[in-house]
Amino acid sequence: MIRPSTTFFRHEPRRSQLVNELWSAQRRDGYITLQTMEELSKSLDVSLIEIQGIVSFYHFFHTKPTARHVIYLNNSVVSKIKGYKRIREALERETGSRFNTKDRTDTFALFDTPCIGMSDQEPAALIDFYPFTNLNVMKVREVIAALKAGKKAADICDQPNDHIRYLPPNDNTIFFRPYTAGEGIANASALTPKQVIGIVKTSELSGRGGAFFPTWIKWDGCRKEAATPKYVVCNADEGEPGTFKDRVLLNREPGSVLEGMIIAGYAIGAKYGIIYLRAEYRWLLKKLEDTIQEFYDNGLLGRSIQGIDGFDFDVRVQMGAGSYVCGEETALLESMEGKRGEPRTKWYFPTQRGYLQQPTIINNVETFAAVARMMEMGINNYLNRGIPGSPGTKLISLSGDVRKPGIYEIEWGMSIAELLQRAEAVDPYFIQLSGPSGECISMNQKNRKISMRDLMSTQDIRCGGSLMVFNRQRDIMKILLNFSEFFLKESCGICTPCRAGNYIIHKKLQKMAHGLATQADVEEIHQWCDIMKETSRCGLGKTAYNTPLRAIEEFSEYFSEKLEDAANGMNLKFNMEEAISDYEKYKV
Ligand code: SF4
Repeated sequence: MIRPSTTFFRHEPRRSQLVNELWSAQRRDGYITLQTMEELSKSLDVSLIEIQGIVSFYHFFHTKPTARHVIYLNNSVVSKIKGYKRIREALERETGSRFNTKDRTDTFALFDTPCIGMSDQEPAALIDFYPFTNLNVMKVREVIAALKAGKKAADICDQPNDHIRYLPPNDNTIFFRPYTAGEGIANASALTPKQVIGIVKTSELSGRGGAFFPTWIKWDGCRKEAATPKYVVCNADEGEPGTFKDRVLLNREPGSVLEGMIIAGYAIGAKYGIIYLRAEYRWLLKKLEDTIQEFYDNGLLGRSIQGIDGFDFDVRVQMGAGSYVCGEETALLESMEGKRGEPRTKWYFPTQRGYLQQPTIINNVETFAAVARMMEMGINNYLNRGIPGSPGTKLISLSGDVRKPGIYEIEWGMSIAELLQRAEAVDPYFIQLSGPSGECISMNQKNRKISMRDLMSTQDIRCGGSLMVFNRQRDIMKILLNFSEFFLKESCGICTPCRAGNYIIHKKLQKMAHGLATQADVEEIHQWCDIMKETSRCGLGKTAYNTPLRAIEEFSEYFSEKLEDAANGMNLKFNMEEAISDYEKYKV
């Protein structure tokens, strides 16, 4: 089967290729030159200032020369507790460079980045976008020496361990059952599109990216739209710190993800699929491209799939360029159209006007894999797993203070306590569910069951895909500050409540960390959270402060101690060292 262009469909406007073109230019020149931007401005008929605005939006684009090797060290909270500081110092020592700049020989440039999807093997870094995991000082020395000796990062990088730690007993795994490409498609194509959507409805499958929106509603809405072409988009922009389940699926079972997209195309009447792959997972691109090619070779992509007249579907991969907010579906669409990844105002659902204003469904990697598997194994078999109201299984990325970090495929209904016990959690104290935008709980809630029903039952709790465990040695304020700094940097800034609120709350938390906050500061945090929840355009602003608010309630003893010290004036002393800590930054 002849495969169309690997980078774009013939009918797509060239503007949709802007991010890919910027990547090519950066790979060629080492950075995005003014000349490149001027040329793109002319050829795309887009103002230079707009091109510059797009380039500046994405973390991984540089407008100044970098170096032969560009290193991004993960500074997420799990990396911090696993030795980030030591590795940062080792990198500076071995490369002779400082963070946010490059060494004198232009060999190494060092940067921080919030999460590269390796929380099960921290500290970790991307070197020239290839993964290096479980770093220690000796390993840093060896890797840098090898690069200095002329080795390529691609040849010496790690193959990240998939660490699948737990599968449901009695062969009840859904995602990691033996896989034969095409079985799900064959079963689905024997049904009508409506019947396929009916099965997805019966399965109660809901968005596995964390939003839990019923999948069938999106599909049915898109199917009913008359406009064509329609698009199926796979959101592989897994950017929530602590989450890495999609990385494992894409690495281990890319065919099932692809197959879920093809089934979706059949169900909604779409002929085009696009995988939006986060830049941090660029090392997975070849595997994805190879799998796509295999599907073409085996008649599972292209024209008349499995010999069925009119069942046509093509897939291509679109690279991201470093932006957490692009995980929000409308921001992702903007990015695919070659724009800044700023969330859209919600006049239309993407199912009505999505990519290029055409009907589009956007689902998460795990959601598509679940569809392929339920079609292959049969809906009744699928429904045998889990609990009423939450059928099936769920992938959880588990990391932090546990002896067995990795992927846990649980049947819905497993308690937090059992999951922690299986992961051999070490003195668990502060548990973060669903990443920084999720919620934190203490061990008082360990008996709650992980399910999709938590809005109906206080005995249950939702978990979008990650669980980070922190023991009593970890300072809660440091965890909260890491999260708030993350949101502060990742807010796209288009709406004031999110832009200002993130800054103000971050400052309040810093004040609290220093023991200088009072009850009035806590009240202000509450007020800002209310404003952000009510008026922010997208989920980032609406959820950024879930965790501090929950932490203040859940760990009240810890916080009342902090507030008491301030009320007693215990910490009102001048700290010279801290006051001049950013002296270096402003030195002329
Ligand atoms: Fe951007 Fe924040 Fe507004 Fe979302 S809520 S659109 S991230 S400013």
